[in-house]
Amino acid sequence: MPEGDAVYRAAARLRGALDGHVLTRSDFRVPRHATADLTGRTVLTTLARGKHLLTRVEGDLTVHTHLRMEGRWLVAPAGRGLPPGDLVRLVLANERWQAVGVRLGMVDLVGTADEARLVGHLGPDLLGPDWDPDEAVRRLRGAPRRTIGEALLDQRNLAGIGTIYRAETLFLRGIWPWRKVGEIEDLNGLVSLAQRLLHANKRHAGTVTTGDRRPANQTWVYGRAGRPCRRCGTRISRGEMGARPQERLILWCANCQPR
Ligand SMILES: [Zn+2]
Repeated sequence: MPEGDAVYRAAARLRGALDGHVLTRSDFRVPRHATADLTGRTVLTTLARGKHLLTRVEGDLTVHTHLRMEGRWLVAPAGRGLPPGDLVRLVLANERWQAVGVRLGMVDLVGTADEARLVGHLGPDLLGPDWDPDEAVRRLRGAPRRTIGEALLDQRNLAGIGTIYRAETLFLRGIWPWRKVGEIEDLNGLVSLAQRLLHANKRHAGTVTTGDRRPANQTWVYGRAGRPCRRCGTRISRGEMGARPQERLILWCANCQPR
């Protein structure tokens, strides 16, 4: 599932292809906006907010997309063939480039003034220019009896963390994922570490938290269930956190992250 760093890269790709150019094609393949047509309008820019993408278009319009579980934006020279089947949700193209949104979890078209309705609930964005660790901690502390594992994924507390960065950050801080938020002394250190990890990965695909880019060595616990902990040799545990049907994967070392 794409996390904040992948969304950040998608926004950068879209800016490079679309910013300042007039759209020569706009093709919304979602029922709600099937008749929308942005042709002839200039794209202003694309912003990433947490895991949301906001593409602002001349005329105070914003195309709101979300990658959800497996969405992607593919950028290619204009006129290239599209992926077959019903994967394509949106095409935005100019004379030089086309951006094709496949398997997007959400495609919406709103007034730019209404963006806050879409992303106003989000906590501080780990990769945003307005990142504010104190505000993220304040929001986390608002529910002290919640597990830290669930609280870190709640985008209302801080925006951009998914299951990979959750697992890796908690391991690096030695925190058992089911510990209560109120029992953790250094929440600022925790969110600041998560922010540094996302920043370190924002310009390249993949997630490297160990500093070692070799494919088998990139993470401490994520993707390593049953294999020995890189620090202590204990087998990495795998489980799920959260209420059904929204439970999400968690990995941890029972020795390095004791109860
Ligand atoms: Zn360990």
